[in-house]
Amino acid sequence: GQKEPTDINALAEEYFRLSYHGLRAKDKGFCAKLETHLNNNIPKLEVVPQDIGRVLLNLFNNAFYAVQQKMTSNILENYQPMVQVSTKWKGKTIELRIRDNGCGIPENIRHKILQPFFTTKPTGQGTGLGLSLSYDIITKGHNGEINIDSKEGAYTEFIIRLPIKNSR
Ligand code: ADP
Ligand code: MG
Repeated sequence: GQKEPTDINALAEEYFRLSYHGLRAKDKGFCAKLETHLNNNIPKLEVVPQDIGRVLLNLFNNAFYAVQQKMTSNILENYQPMVQVSTKWKGKTIELRIRDNGCGIPENIRHKILQPFFTTKPTGQGTGLGLSLSYDIITKGHNGEINIDSKEGAYTEFIIRLPIKNSR
């Protein structure tokens, strides 16, 4: 794909819904609160929309999976699954955050999650390629950065920073 001026908010909304509805199609009882905090004044980003779309889809799928996991292991508690997406304009970069209040990432596997083929999901449910591919797309493909904040049992947040202008 080619880099082109892209409305990152529209892309985020599209994949947010796509991911949620995809999961609900397989698990009819699944329900989560979706929160969007999109800054509507941000400029278009010079990115490959299909590639950023793949990153978003993977991060949203991971987030919904994480809240679903927590939901099935917290039947007795009144747990409210929630996934959030936000965009912010910070100087020459746009910051995109994807946050879930799901199972979190245990400390002892945190260094492995970006490695290709690392997955904690049962066979057939995860390839372990999503985050390594996402990392390459953001860093090598778009001169951006991707950071992770998580607390086991509580939340996970992926923070992506992308330059507004990008060399073609
Ligand atoms: P896959 O989704 O196929 O397992 P990924 O590369 O997307 O592969 O993710 C690797 C692993 O990182 C997951 O199996 C999971 O253990 C962990 N992970 C990723 N995102 C989250 C999240 N939002 N919450 C908890 N764990 C996560
Ligand atoms: Mg994944």
